[in-house]
Amino acid sequence: MYVDTHCHLDDSAFDADRDAMFARAHAAGVTGFVLAGVDRDSWIRQRALVRSRTDCVRAAGVHPMIVGRFAFDEPALRAQLDALHAEFRDDGAAVAVGETGLDAHFVDAATLDVQLRAFREQLALARALDVPVVLHVLGRGTHARAIDVLRSDGLPARGGIVHSFSGSADVAQIYQRLGLVCSFAGAVARPAAAKVHAACRAIADDRLMVETDAPDQAPPGTPSRMEPARLGEVADAMARVRGTTSAILLARSAATARRLFPTLPPAPP
Ligand SMILES: [Zn+2]
Repeated sequence: MYVDTHCHLDDSAFDADRDAMFARAHAAGVTGFVLAGVDRDSWIRQRALVRSRTDCVRAAGVHPMIVGRFAFDEPALRAQLDALHAEFRDDGAAVAVGETGLDAHFVDAATLDVQLRAFREQLALARALDVPVVLHVLGRGTHARAIDVLRSDGLPARGGIVHSFSGSADVAQIYQRLGLVCSFAGAVARPAAAKVHAACRAIADDRLMVETDAPDQAPPGTPSRMEPARLGEVADAMARVRGTTSAILLARSAATARRLFPTLPPAPP
């Protein structure tokens, strides 16, 4: 009945045991999956997954790390951005735009102007299609710049998600007022992550989601390959921070995910 609100289950990390990985997720009560696209190769793999399964939906976008890689190869970047439009048509179509946003942590900050341009273009696509946007915003100064863009350009009416949220409580409140949902991944399980904990406490129940970002972002001190069956590890950490139970948190997160992505499998009666 639960939903992993952001994961990369097409990743080659799951090539050896993908069916077993899905079976473990279902056994753990995680029966819906939002796949996040990063580049054209991932869109092809994720479209095939969505076509072959009823429990996956997907977002398609050009990730800021990919934009960074092609920042000085305009034809290659253009090809990715132009190809994106076709991902919202035909069998296995994407239902959200993303990941898009800004990254000055893993990506050279010298590429931020190019990242900004690709972000605004993808945001405009989400508005035109009226689908949610899935944001990746990471690194010094990126939240302020992303918020400026969201305020000046506007969000799609269907809103969106800031995935793997790592900003402050103040930044979380701003995103929330703009109409976005904040989703948390394994970093919230870090005992010393006081800023992330404060942000996790600052968000309303219906604006908060739980994700694995599998295969990345395993909680510290746990097996490094994250997978949806371990969504409860993230929820447990968030529940401790918020003084609630992970079952309540996961049920609310799933309800929020189904509002954003109505084609996810419904909750059991
Ligand atoms: Zn991701």
